[in-house]
Amino acid sequence: LGECKKLEKVELHAHLNGSISIATIGKLLKIEGRSNIVIPTDFVLKQPTTMEEVFKMFPLIQKLTEKPENLRIAVEDVMREFEEDGVVYLELRTTPKCTEFMSKKEYVDVILEAIRRLEDRRKMKTRLILSIDRRQNIEEAEETAKIAIDDDSGLIVGIELSGNPILDGTKFIPTLQKARNSNLGISIHLAEVEENTQEIMDFLIFRPDRIGHGTFLHKNSEFVRIMRDLRIPLEICLTSNTLCKTTKTIAESHLPFWKDLGIPIAICTDDKGLMNDCNLSEEFEKASVNFGFSKRDLENICKTSFDISFFSRRDKKL
Ligand code: IMP
Repeated sequence: LGECKKLEKVELHAHLNGSISIATIGKLLKIEGRSNIVIPTDFVLKQPTTMEEVFKMFPLIQKLTEKPENLRIAVEDVMREFEEDGVVYLELRTTPKCTEFMSKKEYVDVILEAIRRLEDRRKMKTRLILSIDRRQNIEEAEETAKIAIDDDSGLIVGIELSGNPILDGTKFIPTLQKARNSNLGISIHLAEVEENTQEIMDFLIFRPDRIGHGTFLHKNSEFVRIMRDLRIPLEICLTSNTLCKTTKTIAESHLPFWKDLGIPIAICTDDKGLMNDCNLSEEFEKASVNFGFSKRDLENICKTSFDISFFSRRDKKL
């Protein structure tokens, strides 16, 4: 694990609210005067559970970041924890939310301000991806895309589609295309569950810059054929996949299948707080143990991850 901690790692798939650690959740509960809540059982998945269980947890955590001062604490702590774990480039993602205390734009501005403030002091670089939640309607998605397109800080580098994978996301393709036309990187949570074959096909044809999870893609020979042609990079989250029961064990993960085909792979945490307070070094360690990766393999994954990142997207703003 020590070796994995020393690696200069790149995190490309981390949802802000799911990444808040147990310690920070405790801090926020105390601020909100709710310290009677039992933290691990109420907020953290320790045992393999179901996707539905996971999606029941998010609103609990999201309630804690409804106020700007709490959101600021969450962002700062998440950034600090990733840096302490040896991450040198973090692409944080979050769904802009309109709360009782902030508009969507203000929600994003609080995060950008925190990133900007820490950018000079820290070695780690952080960029932001705005998320569209599959539950949203097109107007809400358009509003999120507009915030990213109009941003002139250079810190918002992409748009991603996430949320409950059972819901079809193809209605968002025109909005995603608009974002792409403004040179934002596009990442899509795809094939996280086995259903929705038509959606998977439509999104492969759309050809996102990256795919989140892609857990079931390798089970369909037509998808494999398309992936071989298009070589769309995958963000793979080993612990998250096993806790959500989309892969039975890490050893059975789809990661080696795609790596052997030469598809670019990033190892990521997904929701480090929610997923048993895991960290990226442990994810690398698990990959090394389960797939026999050498130090050189792991270093190459870090390098590939940066190559497929959206880091310089807005430098090339059209
Ligand atoms: P937030 O966007 O910062 O509030 O982070 C939590 C949100 O990320 C959830 O409400 C989901 O929409 C999304 N999310 C987190 N993990 C997953 C996942 O494994 N699959 C799909 N969506 C996810």
